[in-house]
Amino acid sequence: MLSTMQDVPLTVTRILTHGMTIHGKSQVTTWTGEPEPQRRTFAEVGRRAAQLAHALRDELGVDGDQRVATLLWNNSEHIEAYLSVPSMGAVLHPLNVRLPAEQLIWVVGHADDKVVIVNGSLLPLLGPLLPRLPSVEHVIVAGPGDRSVLAGAAPRVHEYEELIAGRPTTYDWPELDERQAAAMCYTSGTTGDPKGVIYSHRSIYLHSMQVNMAESMGLSVKDTTLVVVPQFHVNAWGLPHAAFMSGINMLMPDRFLQPVPLAEMIERERPTHAAAVPTIWQGLLAEVTANPRDLSSMARVTIGGAACPPALMAAYDKLGVRLCHAWGMTETSPVGTMSSPPAGLTAEEEWPYRITQGRFPAGVEARLVGPGGEHLPWDNRSAGELEVRGPWIAAAYYGGSDGEVLRPDDKFSEDGWLKTGDVGVISDEGFLTLTDRAKDVIKSGGEWISSFELENALMAHPDVAEAAVIAVPDDKWGERPLATVVLKEGATADYQALRAFLGRTVAEWQLPERWTVIPAVPKTSVGKFDKKVIRKQYADGELDVTRL
Ligand code: ADP
Repeated sequence: MLSTMQDVPLTVTRILTHGMTIHGKSQVTTWTGEPEPQRRTFAEVGRRAAQLAHALRDELGVDGDQRVATLLWNNSEHIEAYLSVPSMGAVLHPLNVRLPAEQLIWVVGHADDKVVIVNGSLLPLLGPLLPRLPSVEHVIVAGPGDRSVLAGAAPRVHEYEELIAGRPTTYDWPELDERQAAAMCYTSGTTGDPKGVIYSHRSIYLHSMQVNMAESMGLSVKDTTLVVVPQFHVNAWGLPHAAFMSGINMLMPDRFLQPVPLAEMIERERPTHAAAVPTIWQGLLAEVTANPRDLSSMARVTIGGAACPPALMAAYDKLGVRLCHAWGMTETSPVGTMSSPPAGLTAEEEWPYRITQGRFPAGVEARLVGPGGEHLPWDNRSAGELEVRGPWIAAAYYGGSDGEVLRPDDKFSEDGWLKTGDVGVISDEGFLTLTDRAKDVIKSGGEWISSFELENALMAHPDVAEAAVIAVPDDKWGERPLATVVLKEGATADYQALRAFLGRTVAEWQLPERWTVIPAVPKTSVGKFDKKVIRKQYADGELDVTRL
């Protein structure tokens, strides 16, 4: 028997029209570096999204599922593109502003981007690449910045404000199939070539609802979220679409991502929530420790994209800011887990739950797979590769404009689950604790050592600012851990003392005997520890390693 229910497509268009009417008074505030930030209501943003759609269609001829790329910071124009481009039936492609030039050229070509909307401040990045971006026919420039780099460029150049000015503020949005492509995102390539994931209208809609659930970010019209996670990093973790669905005010930092302006915007605008990777919160902590600021409005922070050191959580607890750990990937839209402890616990009892990666929502099914392909029990002990499936999880990668998709065996199981490449354990209540990326785990004499566990333990030491642990070849054990440590200002390296400190929480046989101090942990384009770089530095003999 079929249901008697209406079958209304779940689309970004609906998110746009709902947000700009029902939540028309909610605001997008963009930091400008001027005394006053720029403030636009959702109603204005929605009208400007309609104007942008007219410009793209009538002036630039964007049609069908053509790709419109963005090379933008987190700001109002970027939100306008997020809503406008998918709603007109085209496909939004946010570009990672920190990608090396060769990779940027590769992804623009692979996605066959026809238009690039770029911030003026990012023209020094885009300009020199244009001769190598043959698919790009139009460049739309928004915000301040020197335009001279575009002189003589092959694509037609437009000014964002001039382009949309005077156009109708409503648009006859087409009826779309919810399974159609809405946006695409390439993985940041931490462990290989970028791979393109194409999100559907349906996956974005369902994911936005998940983001808004109480056990996830759980925000409302009374909240303001500081969206530090870049809009090119898995759609800013779904926040812009979720915000338009629930009327959550957005505070957008634009290019002001350094600790000092972030501290200033938090103190002045008093957001109630924020989202970013751990390195951002490490940087901000160092700043507010040196120059105290009131961050307490920001009651909750969603932290993920890399393992959150428990010591960081504890430090923010003292500032009245609760870091809530989450796990996800480009392929999972990205919400895969969020850590929200069960009911009825004291703060102390909540702690072991808070430091896990969190629990799976109903939309994400999970299983752990052992080395022989066997499914492992959820006993918080059996470690295996995490596989997931659900309506906002990728089933394949984009293979190019001929419509082909890619389903590599190392990323998808035969029965269609996503192989995450992450290794961990799951408790009987469904709390996930990751111990490593499969590629980073240290295989010592047939046993696995968790690099996360060593890093977290090290970063709890008062002299340690950051620590990354990699596997290095060892004649006797196959691999052993090398601890690379960034010391806090004024601290000196005492490896024996650090090793003894680790020995309080980590088994003796797992303790590193190789140590080095580095000035900073190299970071990927989205601010994660880049262990590829450290491995290469070690292999090239560039690290001054002490062996205990
Ligand atoms: P890339 O794979 O290029 O770094 P993604 O942003 O998609 O790009 O990264 C997803 C990966 O980030 C996950 O597979 C996992 O290894 C890591 N990750 C994300 N969140 C966490 C977390 N909370 N704890 C540990 N690792 C995390």
